[in-house]
Amino acid sequence: TESECSFSRVVVIGENGVGKSALSGIFAGARDSMDSNCDLLGDDTYERTLVVDGERATIILLDTWANDEGSWTQEHCMQAGDAYLIVYSITDRASFEKASELRIRLRRTRQSEDIPIILVGNKSDLVRRRQVSVTEGRACAVVFDCKFIETSAAVHHNVQEMFEGIVRQVRLRRDSK
Ligand code: GDP
Ligand code: MG
Repeated sequence: TESECSFSRVVVIGENGVGKSALSGIFAGARDSMDSNCDLLGDDTYERTLVVDGERATIILLDTWANDEGSWTQEHCMQAGDAYLIVYSITDRASFEKASELRIRLRRTRQSEDIPIILVGNKSDLVRRRQVSVTEGRACAVVFDCKFIETSAAVHHNVQEMFEGIVRQVRLRRDSK
């Protein structure tokens, strides 16, 4: 069936320095308990099969986003994803505001589609430098009709949960069709 061999292209977007590559590196590196191998497809693109809720799912992760307004690469990222991780840093309010902007842009670009998105507040280990509260993050996700999670790439907190979460979101959409 489709679900047994499902794969999804997941695109990581967000302001520079929020930890997109650090999170992608964990996905790529198999340094946690996700029991699978990762293939480097070149150019910040990684492929990996995970088992989520007893079912295999292959993710192709694109960490190709660059702060290059209006560039072809950004346009491509906006079109290419089956699902999105919109990342900000909890230590950087501007990156949180940027995340909202990206959500709006995504909605405009993919108007008729119900795209799975997780709003990701990264760097949760940096408690003393926090500028965005959990409550604010969660409220923003409600407004933008997406899921929310705080992660720390530095201490591998919630990173596996984030990837499992995006797989579940993709499945929910597919199963409801
Ligand atoms: P990108 O520009 O979004 O790809 O961000 P990077 O992954 O390159 O990370 C930018 C900087 O933040 C690097 O110095 C990382 O080591 C650091 N960083 C990324 N994630 C975390 C995190 O969860 N906690 C802490 N303390 N630092 C992080
Ligand atoms: Mg990067």
